[in-house]
Amino acid sequence: MKKIVIIGGGAAGMMAAVLMSRDGNQVTLIEQNEKLGKKLFITGKGRCNFTNACTENEFLDAVVDNPRFLYSALSELNPEALIRLFESWGLKTKVERGRRAFPSSDRSYDVIDMFKRQLKEAGTEVLLNCQAAGIRVEDGAAVGVMVRKAGKAPLDSVNGVHRFDGERFSGAREFFIPAEAVVVAAGGLSYRSTGSTGDGLRFARELGIKVTETYPSLVPIVCKEESLRALQGLSLRNVELIVRSGKKELFRERGEMLFTHFGVSGPLVLSASARLGPMIGRKPLTAAIDLKPALTDEQMDRKLVAFFQENPNRTAANALAPMLPSRMLPAVLKAAGLEPDRKANGVTRTEREAILAAIKRFPLTFTALRGYEEAVVTKGGVSVREIDPKTFEAKKVRGLHFIGEVLDLDALTGGYNLQIAWSTAASCAKNIGRSRE
Ligand SMILES: Cc1cc2nc3c(=O)[nH]c(=O)nc-3n(C[C@H](O)[C@H](O)[C@H](O)COP(=O)(O)OP(=O)(O)OC[C@H]3O[C@@H](n4cnc5c(N)ncnc54)[C@H](O)[C@@H]3O)c2cc1C
Repeated sequence: MKKIVIIGGGAAGMMAAVLMSRDGNQVTLIEQNEKLGKKLFITGKGRCNFTNACTENEFLDAVVDNPRFLYSALSELNPEALIRLFESWGLKTKVERGRRAFPSSDRSYDVIDMFKRQLKEAGTEVLLNCQAAGIRVEDGAAVGVMVRKAGKAPLDSVNGVHRFDGERFSGAREFFIPAEAVVVAAGGLSYRSTGSTGDGLRFARELGIKVTETYPSLVPIVCKEESLRALQGLSLRNVELIVRSGKKELFRERGEMLFTHFGVSGPLVLSASARLGPMIGRKPLTAAIDLKPALTDEQMDRKLVAFFQENPNRTAANALAPMLPSRMLPAVLKAAGLEPDRKANGVTRTEREAILAAIKRFPLTFTALRGYEEAVVTKGGVSVREIDPKTFEAKKVRGLHFIGEVLDLDALTGGYNLQIAWSTAASCAKNIGRSRE
């Protein structure tokens, strides 16, 4: 049995706390917010896409950075085992399009509630409104956590339904909790209002543990072209987004995207931000939207010829109307250098080629990522080179573990990021007793 302090009552921290308490450890879970799982609550648009019911290999393909580091964590708790575990804890689940798994109720709160019940049953001590201020290390080993009361509520009235030894700390604004192991599950930097204040990264840096450069990821992208502002709110389906640096193709995917007041967003764009993040903003990247990816250039050209021949006296914009979303028409003609009222029968071959190019390669320039406040996850974090992939213990500090988004691990959308939190927590819980002495 170990005395363990877990910092952060989010996805990773709650999972680790339940499993470690069930294994007979004496666990204290510290959360700086007034409640557990604030970020979990907003996941999946309030429905919590808690995993993806895919194979382990498919899962690893969806992890953008350091997928191989997750091999053993995933074998400890893969998506299928996670769904079974949640069902055994009383959560009814369902799998939707793209194998995205949700609670059957479509309510993220039910996942949080499940954890609250499990924490209570397992006898975990939960301290809310308590911020870990620092980790004490002696002779190369973590020996406990300095805690500061956060929020206005007095400490001994914030334990809610959980067991809490108010006597132990009542009255003190700051106190020390000794521990044989400390688990940092403090998350990354995105959506700060949920409690992701970057403290876990700070603790690592303070203790000489390398943190790789961080970026907002799964985030909208700012574009240079002012003219796109007119398209704000327009969403495109079944288009292909292609990004190049010079002649080198960096990204090509099909799906949905959306124009915003600053540039572009939507699933395709979030995916591009995850794949290209660190490159965006360093220098402008040339992007193109293929508005008709199912047609080759030749097929598209034949269609244009036919459209213009069938509608010789209509404007080019009217002639193209059956082919493109109406709000897209002026932008396509502008990109092709044509006036919107140009008659179809007056369009020259060169102009037709320019229209073709605007439809197949509608131009954009990516200049920057939007900020952490709009990012689903943080790319970068505690370097996995500094962490044991089974125990999640830092190689430089005995008894100090890092799990969840605080690590340099990030994935695409679809439930994969939460699965990273659950799997790293489960592996840490299983192996924490086997840490180096
Ligand atoms: C809008 C949005 C939607 C998302 N939807 C999905 C989805 O549907 N599916 C999916 O897989 N992923 C989704 N994600 C990503 C997912 O939520 C995160 O990857 C996941 O929550 C990370 O879990 P974590 O436990 O590592 O960190 P967090 O969930 O961020 O938890 C960290 C906790 O630590 C606490 N903390 C921080 N510092 C301290 C401190 N010093 N002392 C005490 N407590 C502290 C914080 O208050 C917080 O509660 C979404 C993210 C966002 C922002």
